[in-house]
Order: sequence, then structure tokens, then C-alpha cells
Amino acid sequence: VENQQEKIDYVFKVVVIGDSAVGKTQILSRFTKNEFCFDSKSTIGVEFQTRSVTIKTKVIKAQIWDTAGQERYRAVTSAYYRGALGAMLVYDITKRQSFDHVARWVEELRAHADNSIVIMLVGNKADLLDHRAVPTEDALEFAEDQGLFFAETSALSGDNVDKAFFKLLEEIYGVLC
Ligand code: GDP
Repeated sequence: VENQQEKIDYVFKVVVIGDSAVGKTQILSRFTKNEFCFDSKSTIGVEFQTRSVTIKTKVIKAQIWDTAGQERYRAVTSAYYRGALGAMLVYDITKRQSFDHVARWVEELRAHADNSIVIMLVGNKADLLDHRAVPTEDALEFAEDQGLFFAETSALSGDNVDKAFFKLLEEIYGVLC
């Protein structure tokens, strides 16, 4: 349920992380603006966008941070993770390497973010089925092993993007409230 009112009960900071070019910026723009931009960016410097949603009668403003390309230089700093209640850890289902690096991103979160951070593993570009390089079962197994939530999304078609964010926000709400 959308809510345009100014009355906000909670602000949840969520960070989007993962290798370069997996679709982090597009997932964010799909969720906050329902847009997909074919040739986007590149602005350097951390940016966030917001969308307010209603969860169990409370208005939650999701403040979602994008690395804005800094992951390329491994320059994502602890300030980026500070105060984050949730993380979207994105890989590209067509790029095996981006999935192989997921463990490293989990370590990064464990080192810099709060212990109670809720993590959603996201296999993006699910529209490119013919180019799939990461079986769903591999990701599911990793997610279960590490205690992460899991979804496959397409920022291009919009499939599952809202669902993944809502699940994350609901879980954060469950931890906090
Ligand atoms: P980031 O570096 O992780 O922020 O990745 P971007 O959001 O800039 O996306 C990288 C490239 O992948 C761009 O060319 C996007 O158009 C493309 N892309 C992002 N999401 C999808 C998706 O769901 N499906 C397809 N086919 N392409 C996508």
C-alpha cells in the first residue's frame, strides 16, 4: 500500500551492495520510481533514494543507499553501512563471478554492519533466462546456509522487485517492533 502522507513512523536505512554492473542502481530505481533506465549514471559518491510504504498500519520510509560505483574501487566505507537495518546483496544470474563474490560481500557486512542486519540475497537479471550461469538451487543453498533471505528479480521487467523489498522491510519491522 502506498502512502503519500508526511506522517512517518519509522525510517529504515537499507544498503544495496554487490559487484559492479549486477543492476543495483536499476533495482533501486525500479523500487523507488518504477523506472528502468537503459543508459544510466555514472555519478560518483554515495546516494540514496526513498519510498514510503505501509507495513502493519505503520508508515515506513525506506531510505535506500546506492554505492554509486564506489564498489569498483573497493571504496565502500563503514560510513555506508552505519545504521543500516537491511541489505540487498545483489548478483547477476548470468555472471557466475558476481555470485562467487557474494561470500566476500557477506563478510564485509559482518565486519562493518550491525549484527542484527537483515540480508536479502538477490539474483538479478532473471529475464535473461537463456544466459543463466547461476542455478537457483545454488543460491538458495547458500542463502539457507548463511541465514539470508533470497529472491530472483528483474529490474528490467520489474518481476519480484517490490516483493523482495517488502519482504526485507517486513523482516526488519519484525526484528525491531
Ligand atoms: P550496478 O553497477 O550494479 O548499479 O548496475 P546497473 O544498475 O548500472 O546495471 C548494469 C547494467 O545491467 C545496465 O546496462 C543495466 O541496463 C543492466 N541491467 C540492470 N538490471 C537488469 C535486469 O534486470 N535485466 C537486464 N536484462 N539488464 C539489467
